[in-house]
Amino acid sequence: MNEKMVRLGQNRSEIRELFEYGKLLQEKGMDVCDLTLGNPTAKTPDWVTEVLSNGLKSKDVHAYTSAQGSFKARTVIANSLSKNGVDFSADSIVLTCGAAASLCGVFKTLVNSENDEIIALSPYFPEYKVFVEGCGARFKTVGFLGDGFTPDISALDKAITKNTRAIIINSPNNPSGKVYSKEEILDIANLLTQKSIEFNNPIYLVSDEPYREIVFDNTLLPFIPKLYKNTIICYSYSKSLSLAGERIGYIAIPTQIDEINDLYAGFLGSLRSYGYVCAPSLFQYMIENFREEYADFSLYENNTALLLEGLDKLGFVCNQPKGAFYLLVKAPNGNSKEFATRAKELGLLIVPADSFGASGWLRIATCVTKQTAENALILFEKLSRK
Ligand code: PLP
Repeated sequence: MNEKMVRLGQNRSEIRELFEYGKLLQEKGMDVCDLTLGNPTAKTPDWVTEVLSNGLKSKDVHAYTSAQGSFKARTVIANSLSKNGVDFSADSIVLTCGAAASLCGVFKTLVNSENDEIIALSPYFPEYKVFVEGCGARFKTVGFLGDGFTPDISALDKAITKNTRAIIINSPNNPSGKVYSKEEILDIANLLTQKSIEFNNPIYLVSDEPYREIVFDNTLLPFIPKLYKNTIICYSYSKSLSLAGERIGYIAIPTQIDEINDLYAGFLGSLRSYGYVCAPSLFQYMIENFREEYADFSLYENNTALLLEGLDKLGFVCNQPKGAFYLLVKAPNGNSKEFATRAKELGLLIVPADSFGASGWLRIATCVTKQTAENALILFEKLSRK
């Protein structure tokens, strides 16, 4: 038996643990205010439902497709990405079962020995560690500077070695809502170019983009492949179309990327070895008939504003998210686990962000109903009095 896998199955992530606890209380008819999981509550756009219903009437919509996904769907994605000034082609896109599958396929492709390393910029999505270690590589992290979560370039410089295969960047970011600026990305890109030359091996930038469209206050989201040619995009429709349980996304590489043929074959080989076969056929049909209209994210922006204002009045310190649907709150005494436990006793479920590389902070998911956000403030008020 693979002990590592058994342990992985036995120990759920901190987020899932709290989420399951909340579900249990709800089943018992108890009140819980659950701000744990990034499960989008904005309505799936009507065009998606319409296209899916039409698709269900088509005779071959449940059949296997090519492993890389339908040519028509990949062409739609390539044309859309190419509008950003970097070329993509149908043959540089692979459809996947969501960003998680994309990331696993990419890491397995890049990792060739147990000495290989993948580095995540903090704060980061904790499942990266599981995905990276699951394909036998070493997972390393690099910290940030200040409450603006600026990447620590000199720490990144020191962390990169001849064994570094890739750096993971996630913008807009889970858990901070940070959107990395063009200058910050260029600093990373320049360092990676220099290190790739020094070690005579491309170091890829894996851009994990499930929150790409969820950006507030007209903040500019730089298109990373334009700033660094060796960028691998891992995308998902989970959040942008509120389809998290349906499992649909893609890997995209610009046609200018180094080692394009081996990379592309490696993605197909890796996904094959994981047994993914192909992405869900019905949702490939949705992409073939794509309309650039996403879920209404104003709910998340409004919840964020509501919570920021309310928490500020109560004396809590928060970061200022520019996108995604999370915000970070500082644990008043610096101990996020203790604060999360006290909150749990009141039925307020929030996640200590230590496992996201942001110790002393708590993550609040703002992708909830307005009512849940308002209830959360009532409970925070009780906590502030304790
Ligand atoms: N990456 C980040 C940063 C996420 O927050 C998530 C899910 O919450 C994923 C990847 C996985 O998304 P998917 O549902 O597309 O697998």
